Amino acid sequence: MDEVLVITGGGRGIGAATALLAGERGYRVCVNYRADAASAEGIVERIRAVGGTAVAVQADVSRTAEVERLFETAERELGPLTALVNNAGTLEKQCRLDELDEDRLTRIWAANITGPFLCAAAAVRRMSTRYGGRGGAIVNVGSAASRLGSPGEYVDYAASKGALDSMTRGLSLEVAAEGIRVNCVRPGLIHTDIHALGGEPGRVDRVGPNLPMGRGGQPEEVAEAILYLLSPAASYITGSFLEAAGGR
Ligand code: NAP
Repeated sequence: MDEVLVITGGGRGIGAATALLAGERGYRVCVNYRADAASAEGIVERIRAVGGTAVAVQADVSRTAEVERLFETAERELGPLTALVNNAGTLEKQCRLDELDEDRLTRIWAANITGPFLCAAAAVRRMSTRYGGRGGAIVNVGSAASRLGSPGEYVDYAASKGALDSMTRGLSLEVAAEGIRVNCVRPGLIHTDIHALGGEPGRVDRVGPNLPMGRGGQPEEVAEAILYLLSPAASYITGSFLEAAGGR
């Protein structure tokens, strides 16, 4: 297997589960992180422990120079890029839209929109046959929030994931004839640390029982969906959305 994957925000949560599964399946994995080096290095160690190849690279995905350094390092250490998972994302304290301020909006757009756009662009310049590449696959990690709107919690976050939905469609059509597939997995409520950022670490336990399947999801269940869309099993699928939301 000759696959090289960059996964943004791969040190924790859904990204970490995805990095581990990809490593087990033979991808050479670049585990990006922004601040938590220990978690990212821990995932790299676990991939190496099962015979895989991985490196951890610090970069804020919302900064052009850092994104370029991320992809240059990944290719230097692991070989030509064949896959990107745009997973890094964030949210902030639960509130109403009329309580949001400009600085918060700037932060949310930067991490959740600018970051995936910059990383997708860096990946296309490396993978597209238009640029002499051999093709590849991109999976964006969106959210059920883009459908639900997240009223009273984080409409800004939901809207940023709406932008990612649009990017998935638009980019998939731009590069469909250039050997690159672009798809999106939209998780629902998943057991990770992200809910603590919203001020409610126990949110999945509160809301989970009300979901059609009666529970929140595990990061590993989302990772399976992401790996499917990356894989040759999804060779005729592009511009598509896979809901991993327990029926909601
Ligand atoms: P998480 O546990 O909070 O992990 C977020 C990861 O993103 C961390 O590794 C973090 O890096 C990284 N990150 C954040 N901003 C970054 C930036 N600017 N540059 C580089 N890395 C950055 O979150 P999660 O729940 O696994 O979420 C992963 C993705 O799934 C996000 O896009 C999220 O919106 C989406 N999602 C999650 C849920 C859910 O219920 N958990 C539901 C729907 C969608 P550090 O480790 O260095 O801090």
